[in-house]
Amino acid sequence: MTQEEPAKKIRKIDFCSEIKVIPILDPKLTANTVPSTSYQAISLDNKKVIGQIIGRLKELPERLQHLKRVGKDGSVLISESREGAEKIIDELGNGEVRVENLKTVQVPSIKPSTRRQFDYAKQLWPTGFHPDHEIERLLDGTFLTSSHREYISSWIQKAIEIGNGSIAVQDSVLLSSASPSAHPLGHSVMEMVGSLPKRSESEYLGTGCDVFLANEPCAMCAMALVHFRVKRVFYACESKNGVLKEASAARFR
Ligand SMILES: [Zn+2]
Repeated sequence: MTQEEPAKKIRKIDFCSEIKVIPILDPKLTANTVPSTSYQAISLDNKKVIGQIIGRLKELPERLQHLKRVGKDGSVLISESREGAEKIIDELGNGEVRVENLKTVQVPSIKPSTRRQFDYAKQLWPTGFHPDHEIERLLDGTFLTSSHREYISSWIQKAIEIGNGSIAVQDSVLLSSASPSAHPLGHSVMEMVGSLPKRSESEYLGTGCDVFLANEPCAMCAMALVHFRVKRVFYACESKNGVLKEASAARFR
């Protein structure tokens, strides 16, 4: 927009300096800890036996496959129940694997989703972890580079300027934009998704696009965004009937 244009009613904000982007993440990702469960482990005096024993044990249950079999002190996970562990020891028939060396340990019952959760989990028991770099950047704030900030602020500003607008963008290209219509259900999101361009049959109309909204969407609009498979949603103002405050999206202030 050039300076010669007449002033609009909307107060112009220097978005780039004032903008504060707050990611809304699943509480499962923002939690610092992971739940734990108890398991039976056995201490082995002769560390050479560990390899032999592990070779003869059944795999850990599917839901606990993130756990390493051997703890930091060299003890080995045997079974969830004391009874099961005693039976296994009996079947092993190895004089060095004795029931009196069984102990109850606490192990993380789910695989950590974030580095913070991993740091907690590994204190309990050695655990596998595959960091998701995008989530880590959202959590530590480094996702918001200056070019990203500019990208978000310029599109969100356009959404405000067109009047309670909704804009879909992909690869920095405008796909569709709309303001509310006179129809009772003509919310800006519904109008916007209605004019998303056609794609190949295998793709949803909103696959991979970012949506910028002046206002937080209501339940109907949020569901539409889910159905159209948009990638991210940014909004400027919270609304009374908004449903994203506690969902996975990114919002603006
Ligand atoms: Zn709506």
